[in-house]
Amino acid sequence: MSEQAETAGHCVAHSTTARAEIGVIGGSGFYSFLRDVTEVRVDTPYGEPSDSVFLGDLDGRRVAFLPRHGRNHHLPPHRINYRANLWALRSLGVRQVLAPCAVGGLREKYGPGTLVVPDQQVDRTKSRVQTFYDGEPLPDGSRPGVVHVGFADPYCPSGREAAVTAARGRGWEPVDGGTLVVIEGPRFSTRAESLWHASQGWSVVGMTGHPEAVLARELALCYTAIALVTDLDAGAETGDGVSHAEVLSVFRENVGRLREVLFDAVGRLPKERLCPCRNALDGLELGIRLP
Ligand SMILES: [Zn+2]
Repeated sequence: MSEQAETAGHCVAHSTTARAEIGVIGGSGFYSFLRDVTEVRVDTPYGEPSDSVFLGDLDGRRVAFLPRHGRNHHLPPHRINYRANLWALRSLGVRQVLAPCAVGGLREKYGPGTLVVPDQQVDRTKSRVQTFYDGEPLPDGSRPGVVHVGFADPYCPSGREAAVTAARGRGWEPVDGGTLVVIEGPRFSTRAESLWHASQGWSVVGMTGHPEAVLARELALCYTAIALVTDLDAGAETGDGVSHAEVLSVFRENVGRLREVLFDAVGRLPKERLCPCRNALDGLELGIRLP
């Protein structure tokens, strides 16, 4: 066995003992400067998560950071193993998830730098596995039942409140509510698609919010999207359309204050969950044992 493989094996062993209570699905910009970060590799019945999970302490809370696109940003939105990511977080003990993401603004007033804490979502993705309860047996032989979770309100009310209050505390007045429409990508929208999204009354458009939110619900996790507008979407702007470079540059400009908001939000999350998310699976025959 090579030294590298031995090291990886050593890390995997840690995943049985490492614990966290709060998960943050976001890039290295959120955890890289924390002191005493522990890197943990987690195996799941659904394959490998996007990357290792990085554990650190914030405000006396144990937080698990998972880079959604991998630490080198090599995974496009439609290739992310969303099931493995959510399963990995839950298996570490995580019950509340904060999910920062980059989005396009569908209204002129939601320009770059706007922070949106959506309360609704529309799924316009096409190719993604969006359930744990698909009848396929797990490696342990158990077979998931037919499970329909409620998803009328896709986001955690306590998490949303924590995020909105944290942003206000940092002087960054957020848009409290609104609809995130999730497209398949990786291409951006045409102007016609973008105008149609806006005409439906939807607020922002992204590529990762689904199936992340519904998979969290299927594991009875709290899930809160915190969306940073990096560009005006094609229908709301009059220039040459959005470019990837523009998105990255606005994200870089704002990652510092987004991190501050996230960290404040972590401290505001309730230690004991009283929201409906924890009861999402009550009375349902899951057929599988959740980690
Ligand atoms: Zn909740």
